[in-house]
Amino acid sequence: MTTIAERLKAVHSRIQAACQACGRAPESVSLLAVSKTFSGQMVQQALAAGQHAFGENYMQEAAQKIAELRHLGLQWHCIGPIQSNKTRLVAENFDWVHTVDRLKIAERLSAQRPAHLAPLQVCVQVNLDGGANKSGVAPAQALALAHQLAGLPRLKLRGLMCIPEPAPDFASARAVFEQARTLMQQGLAQGLDIDTLSMGMSDDLEAAIAAGSTLVRVGSAIFGTRATA
Ligand SMILES: *Cc1c(COP(=O)(O)O)cnc(C)c1O
Repeated sequence: MTTIAERLKAVHSRIQAACQACGRAPESVSLLAVSKTFSGQMVQQALAAGQHAFGENYMQEAAQKIAELRHLGLQWHCIGPIQSNKTRLVAENFDWVHTVDRLKIAERLSAQRPAHLAPLQVCVQVNLDGGANKSGVAPAQALALAHQLAGLPRLKLRGLMCIPEPAPDFASARAVFEQARTLMQQGLAQGLDIDTLSMGMSDDLEAAIAAGSTLVRVGSAIFGTRATA
């Protein structure tokens, strides 16, 4: 049986190789371990292997896990869709939110972020390829939303996030991810203070890194196949 520690090591090797292939420093890409559907015990195994940042999609499940593991001082990232009635749960439990695609949600997160916590670190989720069942703001509206988020007091805008449809090959996956990098460069040129491109998962992290990803979100390659996809 392959352990979580061994799989984590393999993912780090992939990140390193992908960086080397395009002349980037391996430290320029951080790894978010996506622990949705996996137990607190498995999160602790990843922690024992040196992993500190974890991503969750389902707010109720996440809040329980975060409470259970609070004493460990982990960093928690919300990477799932956020309904209005879940914003308080998110604002009170997470360090980062990658999936902001509406001003109304952002305003609620800012208003509900407890005063004793650091500002919530947020990314604008962009729907690059128009995937029909996908959340995310259209690319043409993404930077306008980013400027609005940057003005909210209890949020800290960090960058852009995307989840493109699986692409048939490396070149086309990379081409879609490149659109996110172009948007980020436009945002920087407009004066946005951003440093994060959250893109790439177990199956496409190499293409995302080639296109400039600074944070890959990896679940199954670390924890194994999820029972519920
Ligand atoms: C589940 C999920 C991941 C991880 O996917 P894997 O293919 O298991 O690596 C990454 N990002 C988001 C937004 C997810 O929902």
